[in-house]
Amino acid sequence: MRIAIAGFQHETNTFAPTMTKYEDFVMTDSWPGLLRGDMVMSETCGMNLPITGAIKSAEAFTDSNQGRPIDLIPLLWCSAEPGGYVSDDAFDRIAGMICDGIAASGQIDGIYLDLHGAMVTASHFDGEAELLRRIRAVAGDNIPIAISLDLHANVTHEMVNYANLITIYRTYPHLDMAATGGRAMDGLLHILSGAQIASGFRQIPFLIPLPAQYTGADPCLTIYQHILQISSDHGSFAEWAMGFSASDIPDCGPSVLAYAPTSERADAMVADICDRIMAAEADFDPMLIDPKPAVQIALNNTSARPVVLADVQDNPGAGGSGDTTGLLKALYSADADGVVYGVICDPDFTQIAHQAGIGAQVKTALGGKSGVANDTPFEAEFIIHALHDGIFTYTGEMYGGGIAEIGRACLVSPVGAADIKIVVSTYRTQCLDQCFFTSFGIDLTATRIIALKSTVHFRADFESLASQIIHVAAPGLFECRLERLPYQHLRGGMRWGK
Ligand SMILES: [Zn+2]
Repeated sequence: MRIAIAGFQHETNTFAPTMTKYEDFVMTDSWPGLLRGDMVMSETCGMNLPITGAIKSAEAFTDSNQGRPIDLIPLLWCSAEPGGYVSDDAFDRIAGMICDGIAASGQIDGIYLDLHGAMVTASHFDGEAELLRRIRAVAGDNIPIAISLDLHANVTHEMVNYANLITIYRTYPHLDMAATGGRAMDGLLHILSGAQIASGFRQIPFLIPLPAQYTGADPCLTIYQHILQISSDHGSFAEWAMGFSASDIPDCGPSVLAYAPTSERADAMVADICDRIMAAEADFDPMLIDPKPAVQIALNNTSARPVVLADVQDNPGAGGSGDTTGLLKALYSADADGVVYGVICDPDFTQIAHQAGIGAQVKTALGGKSGVANDTPFEAEFIIHALHDGIFTYTGEMYGGGIAEIGRACLVSPVGAADIKIVVSTYRTQCLDQCFFTSFGIDLTATRIIALKSTVHFRADFESLASQIIHVAAPGLFECRLERLPYQHLRGGMRWGK
């Protein structure tokens, strides 16, 4: 059997002002840059990526079925940091490479795709469906296609119709990315073995803010436990995408999918899960607090363990600029001490810091340069504690084994507030791993407040340290108070915000 594999991931925040270009997919960030051919296998090996899990599943199948080895044909894999609309140039070039690769592969039996499910391009609300339409035009309608998607996918009827099978992460923080890719490959092999499976699909009529999508607590925890209970094997299982609220498209929002030997069974599974999600609507609370009161709560906490202040609305992993200063200003004005804060993206600042050198003091502006509403630079004199080449080795569970390339970085403090230590980077990165602090020699257990730019992923590596976690609603391009967003394209009947 010959199976073509490819990956093309983007989570598009249509409210972010900057277009996502081809170069953004080529660039290495927390994940590899654009990979082609055999590099897809070698450069993703050992990482927690869907395509890695899919490759492992195919290899395991080969090992257990000597008579029917699987010949994987790696075509391409790429992703870009979440951000604004994907340019037509980027989409056409990358989709073209995947389609050309399929056309050049000769006879193939199946296709596996590692996609996000919330890609919006300059010309297409549903980037994944357009990609699948082009792939179907080359591969035909008879070749089974299996896809794995992010938990934040905005799944559409077109995606479900083009694909024979879709699997979706079941954890946020996403600890099961590789497992989800493996499940898609297992399902594809199940179909290729001759199994008939039917799908059921339904969209939920309200948006869920991302801070309320944490799967380690209710309401999500109990619903996912139920999904696991009723998913019995590769031919009978259910999936729930919670959706990405910053993609202003008609299909934005949560949805439920199920696959089973009959469509009656698949529909019944979908109905059962939808009922549980609908019943929990009032419980999806993002629990946001403004910066000043949030800092006060942290300062009043007398535990020996740190408080995490999550700057949830300036998460680069959701399209945030990573440079807003609202929370930093609130910490500074409150004379907070024992604070570490990361990661603020400011290429001008890191250049100045690297020129000035360790121990130097520079009067300049930090952050606030992206034109985000209600945000301005933080002007101060800074002391440069440390410089860094910007290559960080992840140590947490989610990205462990991988490397973050964030460009030249530094650790600084405002003069007169030496106990507020700030990590500054050249490229945007979500602060979801302790390595961004520990690489500078910081002992996080000895801090009082850990402030970080992340919405939920930080929980995987920071929750065990924290006595308390607070979601701070400071300025950012990833607005979590959904009632404040100027949606124009949501479908009729959608509900969002309070
Ligand atoms: Zn996600």
